Amino acid sequence: MSPIFVTILGSTGSIGQNTLDVIARHPDRFAIHALTAHSRMDLLAQQAFNSKATVVAVPSQTMAERFKAAWGDAPGRPEIHVGAQALVEVARDPASQSVMAAIVGSAGLPAALAAAQAGKRVLLANKEALVAAGSIFMAAVRESGAELLPIDSEHNAIFQCLPHHGRASAPLGPAPGVRRLILTASGGPFREKRWEDLAEVTPEQACAHPNWSMGKKISVDSATMLNKGLEVIEAHHLFAMPAEHISVVIHPQSVVHSMVEYEDGSVIAQLGQPDMRTPIAYGLGFPERISSGVGMLDLALTARLDFSQPDMKQYPCLALSFQALKAGQGACVALNAANEVAVAAFLDRRLAYTQIATVIETTLAWHAGQNDSELASLDDIIALDERARSAARRVLAV
Ligand code: NAD
Ligand code: MG
Repeated sequence: MSPIFVTILGSTGSIGQNTLDVIARHPDRFAIHALTAHSRMDLLAQQAFNSKATVVAVPSQTMAERFKAAWGDAPGRPEIHVGAQALVEVARDPASQSVMAAIVGSAGLPAALAAAQAGKRVLLANKEALVAAGSIFMAAVRESGAELLPIDSEHNAIFQCLPHHGRASAPLGPAPGVRRLILTASGGPFREKRWEDLAEVTPEQACAHPNWSMGKKISVDSATMLNKGLEVIEAHHLFAMPAEHISVVIHPQSVVHSMVEYEDGSVIAQLGQPDMRTPIAYGLGFPERISSGVGMLDLALTARLDFSQPDMKQYPCLALSFQALKAGQGACVALNAANEVAVAAFLDRRLAYTQIATVIETTLAWHAGQNDSELASLDDIIALDERARSAARRVLAV
């Protein structure tokens, strides 16, 4: 059996590294075609060397030089492709069959979309791509016959709980008999605190997630629960479910990764350790189950599984996400862009934690006055994303 060639967009990130870990466990089944990264050229060079990648894509000539320096004299240096367009080319390169979309933020949208248009098996971790361009993305999957495997743990869980007849066919929903999708949320590190008391929170505190180890941006999003908001929007597109049929429940142990409620009263859940290698292995191996390196769940050791309703006053960013989903695609673009600007400013210590919600709310109010009925193409989305970032930066400047 010849191996499946995989490309990892964002290989140096948390998801990228976990993907390489799973792939390294199955050398007969998978091989790496291309890896991409925005920074950390030493790590990229190490990864490319270990995985025998044929191609790497980097953002600039400077980074290409750094990559070459990091590679040194070792034989078998991969081809180096440079620039944002190179990411798109790499994503649709016929040499790979599966593409892991693990760039953070809407910066990853053009490449993720290119992989979908090229009919790849797309392992989608980059939730911002679906939030910003859900309809375009899902249409591309349908038209090209791509396979779309959700990697976000909640969506992967839901996918596992839905009937899918052995193929990740698009659209993934709506499945007959499904009443409700129930996304679980850990509640983040400040679950026991009130929102008003969080003004002094530092990036280190916000990034100290109780259960998951992740990149910085998604860690902050998990603390504010904007992450869960993005995931509600993601679920809406992936599974063709209206917002009223998607709910969120706080589950501090992060053992139940999400659930599907059926008309007959059944609720099917997927459980496991909070380790992204499980959904990654599921996406890589589908429809077969392959080992991931994740330990087995010992429910007796877990002992308790708690659930509670999220308080929207404690998590204003979650409320703003539902508001954006109801308002439509343009508002979702604005929500995501404002959040990316606000979180970057918070991580840079230029914005208080609680002001993240203010920046998003003000940008959504700005967006409500815009006329963006035309969001038919990737260019329309990117143009709105840029205008929303400018609007969000104006809030920061006040
Ligand atoms: P990360 O910050 O650890 O890694 C991001 C990767 O993207 C890096 O390889 C980086 O070099 C690259 N990158 C950053 N900016 C870029 C740009 N402008 N252009 C091109 N490449 C760029 O992030 P992560 O935690 O691995 O998350 C990746 C994506 O997966 C995010 O969309 C996140 O929401 C989603 N996700 C992550 C987890 C998790 O456990 N980490 C879980 C679910 C979903
Ligand atoms: Mg998630």
